[in-house]
Amino acid sequence: MSCPFLTYRESADGANFDEARAYCEAEGRFVQPMRADVCNDRFDLDHAADCEIYLDHASDGDGAKAPEGDEP
Ligand code: SF4
Repeated sequence: MSCPFLTYRESADGANFDEARAYCEAEGRFVQPMRADVCNDRFDLDHAADCEIYLDHASDGDGAKAPEGDEP
């Protein structure tokens, strides 16, 4: 299973590519190729254990960060 924050985009933030590239919705930026292995749980990697960005954003327990000002 891949990271729930992983999407694929051809463009974002003024950058445009011919083919869709890995994009981290949690960070709001394209993912470097080596990190994409973590995002896709390739080899023995696990996004839930090996990605500090995922761990930071999933700390509320449901895998999604609450929007600013939305905390109780
Ligand atoms: S594994 Fe990390 S870098 Fe990759 S999409 Fe998830 S949060 Fe972003």
